[in-house]
Amino acid sequence: MLKNLTTSLIKELEAEKASTQIGTGWISGVVALVLAITGFVAVLCLRYPDLLTVPEIRVAIDVSLVRITLHIVLILAFLLATVSLILRQHKFLGFTALLLVLFAVALGGSNARISGELTSGVYFGLDWFILNLTLTGIVFLPLERLFRRKEQSVFRFEWREDLLYFLISSVMVQSFTYLSFAPSNLILATAQLSSIQAAIVSQPLWLQFFEIMFLTDLVQYWVHRLFHKVPWLWKFHAVHHSARTLDWMAGSRMHVVEIICLRGLTVIPMTVLGFDQSMLYLYLIVVYLYATYIHSNIKFDIEWIKPILVTPRYHHWHHGIEKEAIDVNFSIHFPIFDRLFGTYFMPKGRWPSGLGVNGHPVPSGYWKQFLYPFTK
Ligand SMILES: [Zn+2]
Ligand SMILES: [Zn+2]
Repeated sequence: MLKNLTTSLIKELEAEKASTQIGTGWISGVVALVLAITGFVAVLCLRYPDLLTVPEIRVAIDVSLVRITLHIVLILAFLLATVSLILRQHKFLGFTALLLVLFAVALGGSNARISGELTSGVYFGLDWFILNLTLTGIVFLPLERLFRRKEQSVFRFEWREDLLYFLISSVMVQSFTYLSFAPSNLILATAQLSSIQAAIVSQPLWLQFFEIMFLTDLVQYWVHRLFHKVPWLWKFHAVHHSARTLDWMAGSRMHVVEIICLRGLTVIPMTVLGFDQSMLYLYLIVVYLYATYIHSNIKFDIEWIKPILVTPRYHHWHHGIEKEAIDVNFSIHFPIFDRLFGTYFMPKGRWPSGLGVNGHPVPSGYWKQFLYPFTK
């Protein structure tokens, strides 16, 4: 039954344009469903904070505010689900949303109490996933409507895969932070770099931030180029390039091995060099938002900015399917590195005709893509 419901639900989300117009109950149904899932997950987080939430977020967030917001979210989900049930011929969206609201309420709703004690151990950043998804969605969904490059639905080809990538990288936030900072502390304890570190940390914060951006992009440029040039590394990176549609969710499609390599090779040296930790965290946030932006379906060409900063069109060419787009535009922030090392490509006013890897060798689905680099 669950499988049938999921299939019908996906069919509804990916429905033809004609049956997603205003008045068809699609918009209310989708919003109800998103709110109901958010509410349900939030209730789980309130009940099992130990297992499901990030300690840093727990400290920073006011729980009473979470409860009020959750209350509103659940009521809105309920109302919109009802609207969708009345308007829409197929009832899957409204029905599922309503069911989730009922489950959330049964688990305690906005009054849900913590079960068990708070201990410090392994956790999954489910709260981070919801927060991350909602905040990024709130920023990028309207931008992709207003400055849309290509007509495409939010539920476009392979959106489920990319959402799963989004979920997994959010949930594994603990491991990634640990992987970045723990080895640095080990190197810090053994290496004698105190004079360099003192010089670096004595600079103004804004300058440190800029230096981090610049240095990591230089390192990132060569790591990225290596991932394109070395055949067995390419198989990991091909997963990222397998996206045939780009939007705000597509950038999170990355093989775990590549994330670890890239983050490790950029964050560890910066920590060891002694940059202020708050600037490193700021860098991680900026790099995340920036990556989302350059993959997004946004046409937003500001002439003077193009030679200085990477734009969506610049990075879309990196993902382009045509011959001329192979192995160009490796920079993620500053095009200057592509200019310096001879890989700059930006034909005037043109976008690539298609996206992805020629012949589409990478299979679909998260686990198949996870295994792909290890296959012959
Ligand atoms: Zn690439
Ligand atoms: Zn990309």
